[in-house]
Amino acid sequence: MTLNTTPPWDDVQNYIDGSWQTPSGDDGQDVVNPATNEAISYVRFSSTNDVEAAVEAGQKAFEEWSETPVEERIQPLFEFKQLLEEHQDELAQVLVQEHGKTLAEANGELRRGIENVEVACGIPSMMQAGHLPNAAPDIDETAVRKPLGVFTAITPFNFPGMIPLWYLPYAVATGNAFILKPSEQDPVVAQRLFELIDAAGFPDGVIQLIHGSVDTVNTLLDHDGIEGASFVGSTPVAKTVYERAAANGKRVQAQGGAKNHIIVTETADLDFAAEKTVGSACACGGERCLANDIVLVEESIYDKFVDRVVQVANAQEIGYGLDEKTDIGALITQEHEERVRNYIQSGIDEGAELLLDGRDVKVEDYEDGNFLAPTLFGGVNPEMTIAQEEIFGPVIGLMSVSDINAAIDVMNQSDFGNAASLFTGSGADARKVRHQADAGNLGVNAGTAAPMAFFHFGGRKDSFFGDLHAQGEDMIHFYTDKTVYIERWPDA
Ligand code: NAD
Repeated sequence: MTLNTTPPWDDVQNYIDGSWQTPSGDDGQDVVNPATNEAISYVRFSSTNDVEAAVEAGQKAFEEWSETPVEERIQPLFEFKQLLEEHQDELAQVLVQEHGKTLAEANGELRRGIENVEVACGIPSMMQAGHLPNAAPDIDETAVRKPLGVFTAITPFNFPGMIPLWYLPYAVATGNAFILKPSEQDPVVAQRLFELIDAAGFPDGVIQLIHGSVDTVNTLLDHDGIEGASFVGSTPVAKTVYERAAANGKRVQAQGGAKNHIIVTETADLDFAAEKTVGSACACGGERCLANDIVLVEESIYDKFVDRVVQVANAQEIGYGLDEKTDIGALITQEHEERVRNYIQSGIDEGAELLLDGRDVKVEDYEDGNFLAPTLFGGVNPEMTIAQEEIFGPVIGLMSVSDINAAIDVMNQSDFGNAASLFTGSGADARKVRHQADAGNLGVNAGTAAPMAFFHFGGRKDSFFGDLHAQGEDMIHFYTDKTVYIERWPDA
């Protein structure tokens, strides 16, 4: 089989009960290549009837799927993993054209997605709960995990190939049915993933795809047939989704936005730290929830470090994501580019020192694309808007701090707590950050603290609403409920 990687593409389709269906809502929007601003596909949103049909098919499929032996359940997952490997290049090509990031970045996120499928294939071991003989006189106790029904995941635009796979493989491996509602901004890669799912041999209704926007999400969250919802997106929406799903009695986990920090101490390898800082803040155009874009530098090395960061940032090649020499691709939409430009203006207005201005970048042959080159501010302070709010663009703010304690204080004042990184040669500094930093993902001499699939992924404070995070073992807990069997068999 071959996946279509050459746009324009047909309108995207829902995948309901094992068949492709055109969404039947009234609204929709173009899918646009961010490097050209040309429409490359169209997504019509789903109607209430489409959602009803998917939930009903999911409930029906769940009856048999949840009773299917676990060893049989993972066979189509192995097949899906194989198909993902075979078609990774094609998926990456599609992803770049509708998202704007580079081919290397697209391949990177797909790799992490595939890893999650691999982890979920270990479900026969991971789903076991526990057994204790002689828990009480003549009594043996056994805990079992059971799947619950139909789950949904609502995912954002920035990792359209990976984030659906934080959830989907675990949901179905544990015996549930699953409905994905991907971002309407780049839904084609989800459609391509489902072409592979269709070929992998899952029974009809076990995994389904529903396109749409706010109304579709709300219909899913209000539906009695949905047992639980996973959400990834901006903080205000994450909070509403969390509240709405919880009010409807559902399990819910909602990952929100972020504002992440890097600390650089005087014992750090400054060249290495500068490379990783620019990579962390600017990869994927800065459109990452793990982008560390506020850099807290010990004052003794502040000037030296700033020079290095300016040098590395200046050397970045801005261009079309399919072009191999591109380091930083296009931002998702013109509106988003405008938003990032407004943040840059706020940095200037609030008195930060503009060290590098990426606003005038021109990309030959792609004059209509949403491009911004890295923009650096020095002399940032914690009260500035650019130090507090998520920018989601290639903008870095550098702040001088007296020492590691002052840096941790600034970091912990943030409303967000998704990630942080420390560059240091000191074990004592590293220990301090591990113990005191209030963030869910911490990197030491690692610019982007992205956990492998067998570890959980999730933040704290306004970056996360819920308790169980994405990926790995947390997903098994999220997708199952536990029952304890208490057995006594006295001699006759
Ligand atoms: P978004 O909140 O605009 O949209 C996310 C999803 O929610 C989409 O599927 C969208 O259709 C739906 N949606 C949008 N508005 C809604 C509403 N009012 N009610 C119900 N559903 C709604 O987010 P985005 O712009 O697609 O993604 C970027 C955001 O996601 C950033 O803030 C980023 O930090 C965050 N993010 C967080 C993580 C994490 O792990 N914490 C990971 C990736 C992205």
